Amino acid sequence: MGKTKKIIIIGGGIGGAATALALNRAGFHISVYERAQELREVGAGIALWANATHVLNELGLLKDAVNLGCLTTNYQFNTQDGKELVNVSVDKFELPVIGIHRADLHKLLWSNYPGKFVLGQTFERFEQDGSLVRVYMKSGLQDEGDALIGADGLRSQVRAALFGENPPIYRNFTTWRGLTNYIPKAYIPGYIHEFLGRGKGFGFMLLGNNRIYWYAAAKAKEGQGDIKEGRKHELEVMFQDWKDVIPELIAATDEASIIKTDLYGRVPTRPWAKGNITLLGDAAHPMLPTLGQGACTALEDALVISKCLQGECDVVRAFEQYELQRGARVKSIVEQSLRSARMGELENPIAVGLRNQFMKLIESVIADSFKTCHSFRA
Ligand SMILES: Cc1cc2nc3c(=O)[nH]c(=O)nc-3n(C[C@H](O)[C@H](O)[C@H](O)COP(=O)(O)OP(=O)(O)OC[C@H]3O[C@@H](n4cnc5c(N)ncnc54)[C@H](O)[C@@H]3O)c2cc1C
Repeated sequence: MGKTKKIIIIGGGIGGAATALALNRAGFHISVYERAQELREVGAGIALWANATHVLNELGLLKDAVNLGCLTTNYQFNTQDGKELVNVSVDKFELPVIGIHRADLHKLLWSNYPGKFVLGQTFERFEQDGSLVRVYMKSGLQDEGDALIGADGLRSQVRAALFGENPPIYRNFTTWRGLTNYIPKAYIPGYIHEFLGRGKGFGFMLLGNNRIYWYAAAKAKEGQGDIKEGRKHELEVMFQDWKDVIPELIAATDEASIIKTDLYGRVPTRPWAKGNITLLGDAAHPMLPTLGQGACTALEDALVISKCLQGECDVVRAFEQYELQRGARVKSIVEQSLRSARMGELENPIAVGLRNQFMKLIESVIADSFKTCHSFRA
């Protein structure tokens, strides 16, 4: 029997934490380096479709996730004044769909990992030395292992060190995310209600602990700051003539809790790996949140990479298999998430009217594409 391999993971987000847990369960030695000083309660809500709850099930965490979250059954698309366009059942599988606070999911992953993440350590560079890889942190700390996984997100430094600096592409949308305890009368239990307008959209769903998570998106220039009256006021004006539940939800949200994020992506490219170093999650395949699959596919990556490393003693070959198994799937999701965003970019009233008619006509196509995406089992 060979010696137990040591795998270094950069980034302790959802992808890195899930990978650490899966690889630890598979018997590997793991070191996780995370730039943040502490694992904080960050983010808002997240939808975990059946492709992701499968991964939690395999990690033995599904029951806990269901308890922390809220079961989701339907994805309903509406016009901005609330006329239903499409209503898709999303709970057609053997596994549940869950709306969960991102911090609850993250904590579920890292608190079940028996080791500790090394916090406050920013990865800077690596050196490959035969079958070993050495990593260097900004602080001067060094470590050495048999393999390195870059799970360091959209602006991955591991990716830059592997393939050169290549900033992600701004995708012309800004998003706002909020949480509130106010549950509108119009909310249907189990529903994601989404509203589509001219170059703007708004959606909301219930999370665990009876909190409503809402999200808004609008076409915007990159890096625009808040208006002087603040982001809540900006949203109130932006959505003032939309279905009444939307202004109600914005009004019921504490301004300080509203998160604003510009949306970026990359054209899917490969390889992700060079020898015993590879990428995972947003570092490998960032995508727009239009399909709610970024974290879900990072969870899939975690399980697949752990299975590949378990099944193959040669790390380089294991990473080749991982990439082969993941590449086509995530490429198609990245591209689909971009196409969905393009539909949302339309501003001309005639084009928006046509899009809405078209959506009604293709309801079964939309339902099938959800089903195909969610049916994947890592
Ligand atoms: C508005 C919005 C809504 C979304 N909604 C959904 C949804 O409903 N469902 C869904 O599945 N996904 C959703 N996503 C996508 C999801 O948030 C991401 O895809 C997911 O978090 C990616 O996980 P990750 O671990 O790859 O990266 P991250 O979560 O970005 O984690 C990367 C980690 O690496 C650390 N790090 C970065 N650089 C370094 C460094 N140099 N050294 C050490 N550590 C470093 C960071 O601090 C961070 O902790 C949404 C995203 C957005 C923007």
